[in-house]
Amino acid sequence: MKFHSTRPGDTPVTLGEAITRGLAANGGLFVPSTWPQFNRSDFARVETLPEVARILLAPFFEGDSLQPHLPDICAESFSFPIPLRPVDGKGFSILELFHGPTAAFKDVGARFLAAVMHRLEHDNSDPLTILVATSGDTGGAVAAAFHGRSGIEVKVLYPAGMVSPRQEKQLTCWGGNVAAFRVDGAFDDCQALVKQAFAAGLDRRLSSANSINIGRLLPQSVYYAAASLWHWRETGQSASFIVPTGNLGNAVAAVWARHMGLPIERIVLATNANRVIPDFLATGDWQPVPSIATLASAMDVGDPSNMERLRDLYKEFATLRQHVDAYTVNDDCIRKQIVDDYRDYGELWCPHTATAVHVFDNETDVATDNMIVVATAHPAKFETVIEPLIDTAIEIPPALSRLLHLDSHLVSIPADFSSFARHL
Ligand SMILES: *Cc1c(COP(=O)(O)O)cnc(C)c1O
Repeated sequence: MKFHSTRPGDTPVTLGEAITRGLAANGGLFVPSTWPQFNRSDFARVETLPEVARILLAPFFEGDSLQPHLPDICAESFSFPIPLRPVDGKGFSILELFHGPTAAFKDVGARFLAAVMHRLEHDNSDPLTILVATSGDTGGAVAAAFHGRSGIEVKVLYPAGMVSPRQEKQLTCWGGNVAAFRVDGAFDDCQALVKQAFAAGLDRRLSSANSINIGRLLPQSVYYAAASLWHWRETGQSASFIVPTGNLGNAVAAVWARHMGLPIERIVLATNANRVIPDFLATGDWQPVPSIATLASAMDVGDPSNMERLRDLYKEFATLRQHVDAYTVNDDCIRKQIVDDYRDYGELWCPHTATAVHVFDNETDVATDNMIVVATAHPAKFETVIEPLIDTAIEIPPALSRLLHLDSHLVSIPADFSSFARHL
């Protein structure tokens, strides 16, 4: 299997190379050059996530030195439960992606990436340095996944005062091969420092772990495949998904699972007030803008990079339009959804998940049978948003609670490259 760039004029590469490079040399994103096709019978008698992963991902590993490691990589990446449960009274089921080490769906992609990179790097005497700029969830998931992996160092950069105290703890509690930098600036300054490091031609090997890496997307297709198979076994019908969406990484993985033949019908995107995707689907005009801050902060994206992958798959706008729908949800609606569902059903959503639930409750043509709402984070991660709304302390899941009791290790730096470079 080869992977090619979404932009013309680049040579196709194998999976390991696509993951190591992150971005194609011509600035495009890597996508699979062919699509394996599956039937439900390919997964007969398959029960666990690692088993679904081994079958679904096997074609992508063909012809790569990683191939013999596929079973171990799947076992390491899918080592926590991803339950699908009906929500009493609401009329949908919820797919809970937040039972991993940092309580957000990004744990799946980050753990897969770490499992792959560890195997690509462990013979290399020259250590690899992974740079991650984060506004919260990505950095924690990447730090947790790479912590203790020999031959790989991680440098996480985050904006001072712009991540929640619990998110900050998830970035700074590691030590060892993971270093955290609190940058006196905004997320964009952190990203600029990472770009400057790549441009500086330092005498060390650099890589990145952000969500455009195909190593984070492919494993996400696994939970859509598994959930659709479980739903089929229960009901004999195809599932549809509502996906809280920012940079479109999670949603593209759902689209890919359906494209490979899994029993998935509709894929509905829920965005916050950053509405570039719904506006594009309504008008055909792609108008990226600077992001605006919302309560669902991990979805504050004004120029979603993975749209390039969606447009590569559905080259005609009319085709793309047939395959996804998108709705925007503002902060007032997010607040109301959290308050109402806690009061009426005892269900607590994180602000991102609340956007998807809101779409189900308010868009009549979305509120159909067989809908699965995707829960992207545990509410306890966003206690500063939720606790004032419900006036109750949220119970913290054990994995998260363990991290909150560790010491913090961090370096504060100004937003200039010479300071950061001294630490590289
Ligand atoms: C990252 C994130 C999202 C957005 O996912 P994309 O793949 O960027 O669309 C949604 N919810 C949570 C909790 C996240 O951390």
